[in-house]
Amino acid sequence: MTARYHTLIIGAGVMGLGIAYQLARRGVTNVLVVDRDYLTGGASGRNGGGLRQQWATEDNIELMLESMTLFREMTRELGVNVWLRQGGYLFLLDRPEDVEAFTRSTQLQNRHGLATRMISPREAERIAPGLSSEGLLAAAWNPSDAVVFPWSVLWGYAEALAAAGITILSRTAVTALEVKGDRIAAVVTDKGTFEADWVVNAAGAWGCEVALLAGIHCPNQPVRHEIFASEPLKPWLDPMVVHFASGLYFSQSMRGELIAGITVPSHRPGQYTSGSSYQFLSLIGRHLVRFMPRLANLRILRQWSGPYDLTPDNKPIVGPVAGAENFVQVHGFAGHGFMMAPVVARIVADWLAEGKDHPIFEHYRLDRFEKGGGEKEAFIIG
Ligand SMILES: Cc1cc2nc3c(=O)[nH]c(=O)nc-3n(C[C@H](O)[C@H](O)[C@H](O)COP(=O)(O)OP(=O)(O)OC[C@H]3O[C@@H](n4cnc5c(N)ncnc54)[C@H](O)[C@@H]3O)c2cc1C
Repeated sequence: MTARYHTLIIGAGVMGLGIAYQLARRGVTNVLVVDRDYLTGGASGRNGGGLRQQWATEDNIELMLESMTLFREMTRELGVNVWLRQGGYLFLLDRPEDVEAFTRSTQLQNRHGLATRMISPREAERIAPGLSSEGLLAAAWNPSDAVVFPWSVLWGYAEALAAAGITILSRTAVTALEVKGDRIAAVVTDKGTFEADWVVNAAGAWGCEVALLAGIHCPNQPVRHEIFASEPLKPWLDPMVVHFASGLYFSQSMRGELIAGITVPSHRPGQYTSGSSYQFLSLIGRHLVRFMPRLANLRILRQWSGPYDLTPDNKPIVGPVAGAENFVQVHGFAGHGFMMAPVVARIVADWLAEGKDHPIFEHYRLDRFEKGGGEKEAFIIG
């Protein structure tokens, strides 16, 4: 006999686990999460852990204001230390057009209650000791942005799900979706077939592949992003520092490591393969030492990569789709799905459990791309 669930979630990344967790909080525990990999195997176990409220569009600012609140409560709520540190985000700007765009968005963020401000290169040097501001025109600074340790968030969610009696089936790949009429009638995996009232596609950068199993075409493109962790250093750096033009970012974790990444221009959207390159190391080495000369002798311990999941307007796809009414898409989060997960999970679970609507279901509909997409989010790192 086929097992039947209220909700079956494809993908045990931060998004899938977050949705299952929020469902459990609403008393819905007849939930199954399947993932073809191990916990932390997707982008959620491979990212920089950055949480920022500095965005150029109202949707993203509002979502991140709430997500930050949820992250602040997470250690207490999950009983697992997620190593949250609100050391701020410092955007370094050396192109006039970036200064203009950040000045505009700073005003927008201020209207939403954030204390973001444009500052001089000299002031940026005071916020990030050791920073060389040579060549910079200005910086944008928000002191309440933060970093977390991504693995702890996943472990915390997984433990909470186990306590609620929700199973995560790892090493279980979804291979087919049986569509009957306008519904997903069954989810076929390599470990068996399952039925559910709701099927959530939280497969991240593989979300399009999964959607295609039901004949649904999405415009997302995965792209490889590389990152490294250094040996632990004496604590000296509070903020996440981002050079907007190159996509360089670096922060010091609570464990002392420097975590840093940069956009490698030749890693093209649509060509995702995991793995690390020398090209990345040489590019990031040059940029890092330009801005933080004291890191010239830094020893790198680990280097890895993961996928960004890009849509044409840099915004995600969230909600049901025409032709498969019980098939909920939650993917396309570029390089900011980790920070958005708590709030998006809260909204999606409200809708699945209680039918509560939210504007993002309208703003992030898949069919917006038939009309050219929504307002483009410009503040993507990479
Ligand atoms: C280098 C790097 C740095 C980043 N930095 C940040 C940052 O600082 N802040 C931030 O907010 N975001 C960051 N991101 C983006 C962030 O990691 C992602 O947006 C987020 O983790 C997406 O979560 P997810 O749960 O949607 O996807 P994932 O974590 O990728 O989970 C999707 C899961 O679906 C599973 N799956 C796929 N296909 C199938 C199938 N057929 N059957 C079953 N399971 C399947 C996969 O195995 C995977 O585990 C970064 C990403 C990278 C790569």
